[in-house]
Amino acid sequence: MKHLQSHGSLLPAAVAISLFSVWLLSAHVACRTAPSPSPSQNRNSNPWQSFHNFAGRRKGDHVSGLANIKQYLHEFGYISNSSNFTDSFDDTLESALKKYQQNFNLNATGVLDNTTVQRMVIPRCGNADIINGTSSMNSGKPARMTLHTVSHYSFFEGNPKWPESQYNLTYAFWPGNQLDNTTKTVFSRAFERWAAVTPLTFTETDYYLEAEIKIGFYVGDHGDGESFDGSMGTLAHSFSPTTGWFHLDNEEDWVVEGDVTKSSSTVAIDLESVAVHEIGHVLGLGHSSVEEAIMYPSISARTRKTELADDDIEGIQELYGGNPNSNSSSSSNRDDDSSDGGVRIMDWHRKLTMVMAALVSFGLLW
Ligand SMILES: [Zn+2]
Ligand SMILES: [Zn+2]
Repeated sequence: MKHLQSHGSLLPAAVAISLFSVWLLSAHVACRTAPSPSPSQNRNSNPWQSFHNFAGRRKGDHVSGLANIKQYLHEFGYISNSSNFTDSFDDTLESALKKYQQNFNLNATGVLDNTTVQRMVIPRCGNADIINGTSSMNSGKPARMTLHTVSHYSFFEGNPKWPESQYNLTYAFWPGNQLDNTTKTVFSRAFERWAAVTPLTFTETDYYLEAEIKIGFYVGDHGDGESFDGSMGTLAHSFSPTTGWFHLDNEEDWVVEGDVTKSSSTVAIDLESVAVHEIGHVLGLGHSSVEEAIMYPSISARTRKTELADDDIEGIQELYGGNPNSNSSSSSNRDDDSSDGGVRIMDWHRKLTMVMAALVSFGLLW
């Protein structure tokens, strides 16, 4: 939205309409009461950039702003109590940091060392690593299991999955986004990677309300209690089966075509890489500590990671079994990338079109 405010006299109206349409969307997707909207912040910079100021801090230190680190760790499940975070480096922060370090294969010292800070500021999935105190990653497993890279995949609490009657899943894009075919194809490829190793199939439908998987790009607080935070920070989040909600932060510089590693933008995020990860959640996988796995929580800008790792395949096949039509259901080594095109980013012009279209589509749908 920030982009719009300095352009032309029609824009105040456009902003109002945009905000209204986002509000309308919120009314549609809300399943629980949203907390207060995210505080004003520079949506063009990494919301976690200031964490570098705390490098080297340890238990006993008191430094202004340290509460933000606690808030971060709370957001991803490492601190359960959310009330009144102080700027003191206390026992709670130390033990949360140790768990974080374990999950991300770092030395579990409980000290906020430089390596840990550098890991924390990498853009990541908004889904928590620890849900209701249960870690899906290293910190929730016996030490002997974390020494070697065997299987680190995990599921949501209660192992929810799509029932056999819904193995042929449909997905649809929120009409307000007005995605073009190039962008839709990115999602289609991402779904195919999971379809190749499971009995599941995925078919796009135009009937958004009836689709089992609903995909949409949203800005900030969009009504499900999980606000997006602008460029970088959290990139996307998804809900466990059989909710089917798959949301992406519309303020990222999503690369839909071309080689993301050659992008001129330092905050370019590869859409397909994130899509493959989020579909894993939609199907029932939690986060993995295996860095090569698609279900590892974070991905740097200008990075492409779309291949399912053995860890991902073992995890999804424990839920659904292999692909009955495939001779080698334990492998999905297909990458039909064409890296010859220029990098293509969803720019603000397109975002404006998407938001403006929201009202129109709302009128058609409701
Ligand atoms: Zn995730
Ligand atoms: Zn959401």
